[in-house]
Amino acid sequence: MKCKHYTIPVFIPELACPFQCVFCNQEKITGRHLIPTDAEIVKTVESHLASFKEKNRRVEIGFFGGSFTGIPPAAGAFSAIGAAVS
Ligand code: SF4
Repeated sequence: MKCKHYTIPVFIPELACPFQCVFCNQEKITGRHLIPTDAEIVKTVESHLASFKEKNRRVEIGFFGGSFTGIPPAAGAFSAIGAAVS
């Protein structure tokens, strides 16, 4: 059976990154310059999950516009994602 792949985008504008590379400038690309709240991340993930029709699917969350590995483990994004996917 064919498996559909999805990546749910979460934009973290320049979070944990001191630079603003032109190809990654989230304010210019998405019009967004604020870091999403936990509730916004949960809403984004739940909204995308609800829109997927295929039962046989692989879903990932992609962080764009910042340095995911530079975010402290205790930051809200991690707990929000855990709550959204559980
Ligand atoms: S996350 Fe990477 S690509 Fe984006 S602004 Fe920072 S250094 Fe540039």
